[in-house]
Amino acid sequence: MPVRRAKTSILKSGDIALIGIPFDDHSSFLKGSATAPPLIIDAIESNSANYFTEGLMDLADHPDVCWLGNAPLKDYFDIEVIIAEILKRGAIPFSIGGDHSITYPILRAMSASYPSLSILHFDAHGDLYDSWGGSRYSHASPFARIMEEGLSQGLTQVGIRTLNDHQQMQVSKFGVRVVDMRNWSPAVDLNLSGPVYLSFDMDVLDPAFAPGVSHHEPGGFTTREVLRMIQLLDLNIVGLDLVEYNPDRDLNGVTAMAAAKIIKELLAKLL
Ligand code: MN
Ligand code: MN
Repeated sequence: MPVRRAKTSILKSGDIALIGIPFDDHSSFLKGSATAPPLIIDAIESNSANYFTEGLMDLADHPDVCWLGNAPLKDYFDIEVIIAEILKRGAIPFSIGGDHSITYPILRAMSASYPSLSILHFDAHGDLYDSWGGSRYSHASPFARIMEEGLSQGLTQVGIRTLNDHQQMQVSKFGVRVVDMRNWSPAVDLNLSGPVYLSFDMDVLDPAFAPGVSHHEPGGFTTREVLRMIQLLDLNIVGLDLVEYNPDRDLNGVTAMAAAKIIKELLAKLL
């Protein structure tokens, strides 16, 4: 089942705009996530699966979900411009692929439309470093930029299992709510009020379930635990991203299929 192809210029209010962000220049360890977007779309459209969500919603009945293809990027901050164009048309941007640095320019656009935006962030890592490898735009730093610029009124992070002294200081400085992996339980309440941006780093999953990521951090979620959390969300989601899928590290496309499944269940929350 193909996802409807569309251009930004024909988006209408309420559309859900899947857009590929082929950007991994700010990855600190391995490149590869720039090639992710069309492979994730291939997985969504794979003949090996159908187009229903687990809640029995047929996504084929929802032509308001569309695929814009890869964003044409010459510069990191082109990401902000492209997301702003989607928002201007009243559509919900759902960015796929790329490294996690893309969330900062996305949030610059999002906060212009939603001044009191909360963020729900799934990740093995806090991505709160003031800088990493000499770069303040590293994929290890987007949430430091977002919080110091006041682009979000509240950040909730789920699945974290790599905090160090510096990142704990950043957590305190920015008032981040951390639901760390060690203390997570299925009953945790992730429901926030007001408009919410959801950012999903594939490495929040255990590497056994999602080997196609640059940073293997053992002790993560099963795919089922993530799907269950998504299915229990009751939020006003106004923008999303799914990042850090690295096809170079994948095994038989299993991580692409996990990404596709997660995207389908997230779409069910928007429709
Ligand atoms: Mn991340
Ligand atoms: Mn991560």
